Amino acid sequence: MSGDLYTGVRLRRQLVNFGVVSVARVMQAPESEQVELRCECGAADCAIRLTVRRSEYETQAASSRLLVAHVHVNGNGEVVFRNARYAVVQLRSAEHSPSTHLGG
Ligand SMILES: [Zn+2]
Repeated sequence: MSGDLYTGVRLRRQLVNFGVVSVARVMQAPESEQVELRCECGAADCAIRLTVRRSEYETQAASSRLLVAHVHVNGNGEVVFRNARYAVVQLRSAEHSPSTHLGG
């Protein structure tokens, strides 16, 4: 199933982004600090980077949500937030793993 590869890429991107934000937090960067995150659309060849404030990430990110570039909103969920730089997609419940916990 190509869906497994897609999900694997997506989860890796989410973990990378979580790691970037975690480092910023540990370094005691201000919440308004902008970090450069990977688009979480799940396409293996996607190289888009998103500029996100740490406070925004901590408000929006969850294992069931994806931070994606506007051009990569691809109908795999519902757009629950968008601003000038990125969109947040809420995945349908069947598409995320309840064993994956990001942030909190
Ligand atoms: Zn993308």
